[in-house]
Amino acid sequence: MRTVLVSTYDLGHQPQLGAELAAICDDLEVVDLTRSPGAIDLAGAGRVIVTAPMFTGSVAAKEYIEDHQDDLAGKPVVLAGLYASVLESALDPAVRERLSLRSFDRFQLQDLLKPAKGGDPSRPTAKRAYRAERRGLLPLAQYRKVLAKGASIANGYVEASIGCRHRCLHCPVAAVWDGRIAVNDAAGVLADIEEQHRLGARHFSFGDPDFFNAPQHTIPILQEAHRRLGEVTFDITVKVSELVKHEEWLDGLAENGLAFVISAVESLSPEVLAKLGKGHTPEEVFKARDLLFERGVGLHPTFVPFTPWTTRDDILDILDFVWNSHLEDVVEPVQYSIELLTPQNSLIDRAQGGFLSYDPDVMGYPFEYRDSALSALQRKIALLASACGDGGYAGTFEAIYSLVETDLGRSERAARPARRAPEPVVVTEPWFCCAAPIR
Ligand code: SF4
Repeated sequence: MRTVLVSTYDLGHQPQLGAELAAICDDLEVVDLTRSPGAIDLAGAGRVIVTAPMFTGSVAAKEYIEDHQDDLAGKPVVLAGLYASVLESALDPAVRERLSLRSFDRFQLQDLLKPAKGGDPSRPTAKRAYRAERRGLLPLAQYRKVLAKGASIANGYVEASIGCRHRCLHCPVAAVWDGRIAVNDAAGVLADIEEQHRLGARHFSFGDPDFFNAPQHTIPILQEAHRRLGEVTFDITVKVSELVKHEEWLDGLAENGLAFVISAVESLSPEVLAKLGKGHTPEEVFKARDLLFERGVGLHPTFVPFTPWTTRDDILDILDFVWNSHLEDVVEPVQYSIELLTPQNSLIDRAQGGFLSYDPDVMGYPFEYRDSALSALQRKIALLASACGDGGYAGTFEAIYSLVETDLGRSERAARPARRAPEPVVVTEPWFCCAAPIR
């Protein structure tokens, strides 16, 4: 049966679900809406899969489904990804009524296309067969790059594990996985890395929600990939508190090509961090940064600056942190404008903020700020951030920093400490993590 997978937005890398399903399904056609936005030929398709990996992709998926409901009518339509159930609830009720829709996670989807070979996803740590087939995808050259030392480097992508052991309250991974993880078979992950290396990748992003969820599994994979391929570099994502707790693992990663770590700092306000259930303090953010810099590893912090509990000083604290850490050239400016998303399955306690009624347009519950001036400030920052292209982020940072300083009446900026950050390694796609601008 011909299956068409409509990939909406995979943070700038090749459609990962498309690569994994292509390895087990002979008649799969992957269409990436970000690279091929034209009409999709669904004639003869026996099934259509539409991905909803995160908020941005889900907005694109909603638009695609509602605009193409005539083409989709009469075919089974599978919504796949972390936001699948959130997307299904947000669709126009008449569209939901008309189409034959089902929301699946990755295990269920694999079972649908081919009986499962992996483990039992109801167990705390499942083992998962992993194969990826990238021949049917668009070339790596059409996806995000890494800019380092004046070179533009093709960026491969793999996942050694999925799910997350942690339960940060605002996180869509936590809402779906509820503390469970699954590890991908190491041989399959290494084979995929080698294949992408053959196709030109020289930097690899491990997309595991937290690389330290299964360190005995993930760290040896990175080290083995470095042993086999030599001069390649990597980035991983690790929670602030885990970086601080497991300093001993950083040396073995730094020596094997780890270029930078993405870490969800979110805020430097103790109140906001507590409301998000982050499990780290502002002091631990500084500590994690220092541990990485001491080893020549970069930090790419992500933020959720705008929450119901945010003050204007909190926004300035984030910008001061970026400035004083010499990170203005690596942080994607969209990060300074992100607002908390609270979909229906969010673990956030909505009784503790100014949350309004459910709004399908934002796929969740909007909120009112305690300080009403924050709404206008967020819009101004979002406007500046949206005008920024790929890379060259420092100029936009400066415009946002000056805007916020002026807003708060600060006329002079203190001298910043000497640079300890390593040479910047910049990702060309301004991607979004657990949240996104919603207006
Ligand atoms: S924010 Fe990161 S560490 Fe926290 S639950 Fe989500 S994926 Fe896990």
